[in-house]
Amino acid sequence: MPRPLRERRPRCDSVRRDGFGGLRAASKETRTTSFSAGRQQVLDRVRARPETSVLIVGGGVNGAGLFREIALQGVDALLIDKSDFCAGASAASSRMIHGGLRYLEFGEFKLVRESLRERNLLLRNAPHGVAPLRTTIPIFSRFSGVLSCVRRFLGLGGERPPNRGALMVKVGLTFYDFFTRKDRLTPRHRFLSRAELLARRPHLNPNVIGAAVYYDAWITYPERLCLELLMDGEALCPEARAVNYVSLAGVEGDSVSLRDEATGRVFQVRPRIVVNAAGAWVDIANRALGRETAFIGGTKGAHLVIDNEDLLESTQGEMVYYENPDGRVAIVFPWLGKVLAGSTDIPIDDPDQARCEEEEVDYILESVHRIFPGVAVERSQIVSRFSGVRPLPRSDAAQPGQVSRDHECRVTEPTDEVPFPVYSLIGGKWTTFRAFAEQVADRVLERLGRERRASSEGLAIGGGKDFHRTDEARGEWLARLRQETGLAEARLSTLLERYGSRAEEMAAFCADGPDSALRHHAGYSAREIEWVVRCERALHLDDLVLRRTAMALLGELTHDLAEELASIMADVHSWSPERTRDEVRRAAELLRDRCGIDLAPQAARQDDRGRPPTKT
Ligand SMILES: Cc1cc2nc3c(=O)[nH]c(=O)nc-3n(C[C@H](O)[C@H](O)[C@H](O)COP(=O)(O)OP(=O)(O)OC[C@H]3O[C@@H](n4cnc5c(N)ncnc54)[C@H](O)[C@@H]3O)c2cc1C
Repeated sequence: MPRPLRERRPRCDSVRRDGFGGLRAASKETRTTSFSAGRQQVLDRVRARPETSVLIVGGGVNGAGLFREIALQGVDALLIDKSDFCAGASAASSRMIHGGLRYLEFGEFKLVRESLRERNLLLRNAPHGVAPLRTTIPIFSRFSGVLSCVRRFLGLGGERPPNRGALMVKVGLTFYDFFTRKDRLTPRHRFLSRAELLARRPHLNPNVIGAAVYYDAWITYPERLCLELLMDGEALCPEARAVNYVSLAGVEGDSVSLRDEATGRVFQVRPRIVVNAAGAWVDIANRALGRETAFIGGTKGAHLVIDNEDLLESTQGEMVYYENPDGRVAIVFPWLGKVLAGSTDIPIDDPDQARCEEEEVDYILESVHRIFPGVAVERSQIVSRFSGVRPLPRSDAAQPGQVSRDHECRVTEPTDEVPFPVYSLIGGKWTTFRAFAEQVADRVLERLGRERRASSEGLAIGGGKDFHRTDEARGEWLARLRQETGLAEARLSTLLERYGSRAEEMAAFCADGPDSALRHHAGYSAREIEWVVRCERALHLDDLVLRRTAMALLGELTHDLAEELASIMADVHSWSPERTRDEVRRAAELLRDRCGIDLAPQAARQDDRGRPPTKT
């Protein structure tokens, strides 16, 4: 049986020397910000006490945000996800934390105002994971789009989103600045002349007449931030529990049957309220709850991660936010040394079938070529691709881009057969999850006859607690930790970037036993991986490479690395050699199918620049 983390963290006053980080000393006891129990312990507790005030179905950002929100009010909740936490749309986003400039064209001022407010709250509460992002909008005309926008405002319709000219962009950004005037965390917008723009970005389409520059924000690891919401929820309320790989199996009287996807075992829980936060699967989950609904009209969106130095250079460390000829907005921006490009917007019925198809790859590559014709992007430079389904409300809109990105909660009242209400969460954006959670929590509290105890407005998320924002504070933190743990400063900086203030706990764990860099990835150590697996409920190898780390999406994963990681997981989870091999096989299949990554075990598949292989 794996030993719990605390047992593996003996106090030790001696200073040792090792091959990873030089001098090391055991640190003083640090606060625990991770899941305090393992997945199996959580399941055992649920079986021992099947009553729960709220059952939340779905561990994407909307489910996780609500989980934390109601845990903050002292309400016990059980959150389940049929897959891993944050494996749906919440992992497939464009990684923008934004007001939604485009939504202004549809008169969605309330949504934009709320989004900008939430963007600013995230910049404050999750400084380790959300950062300001300078964004450039290349402009190709002065007045286009105005007429069609006016038609839309007058309710006369509009076949496709307008081509946005300088005037439209100016009006939108003026609203942006107006909405944030009392809480300005980022500079106001400004315009660049064509000459200024092309001097900075010589590869840009020369037909531009200028550009607007403004600020939004971006999120480095959405998967990790979502996980931190769940960890915070459990820490806030001892009766709050979140468990992955558990799905809905049906309803029997006042009980909901759940299936442990790891063992196939079915067990019952008795909730007073069910919140259906299953994203694009809301209607499917409602069916399993004995309710027929048609709330969702999901659209699929895909992104590519591209390894091309010229393209990376052309982004100038900023987002380029532009428009395709079909009116769909697109993004290109630097992400951890690669370039993220996307996205598509295609109606889809079955969310389980969402893949980034070859036509979507063509569409995105053409779009990148159109905006940066001076950069040659090869298909072989795509290191990964990913796709997700936006849980949009069912709509008659002519274009997917015209469907509102606002959120709503629909309540299905109890019946004789299903004696609890079901709250279905529809739509929303990553950016607005907290506001959505707050609104739903208030309705849940009212139904439970409970009072709101606290607001999450100023509540830091995970490693955002006590995060050092200034260079000076960060320097002091690094010096102290270097002294306490003996880890090298560069290594501590990396941990700080990945885990925020939770890096302290991580560094202490790394320092408390023999550690070394992974053989096949110098940027991670064996104990770091062990800590992540132990403390963050990673059940499968793909959880580790796709959602606890960004290794797979960044194109860093090779077959050898997958085997090395699986052997660390095998030690933690006591896997047999056969199970360990199965995990590598499972991850390889999933990555090929969903992310276009080929983990074929021949070293010879490395291309001439030594990069890991990708499917082309
Ligand atoms: C391509 C794309 C780009 C986007 N870009 C942005 C952006 O830049 N900025 C922004 O703010 N927003 C963006 N969004 C929107 C945002 O990502 C989503 O609105 C948000 O993540 C939805 O979260 P969710 O929790 O409702 O759904 P999901 O994240 O899909 O979570 C639903 C979860 O429910 C689970 N589930 C389903 N059925 C069951 C069941 N029967 N039992 C148990 N669990 C179940 C699933 O496994 C899944 O984990 C984007 C979305 C997409 C798809």
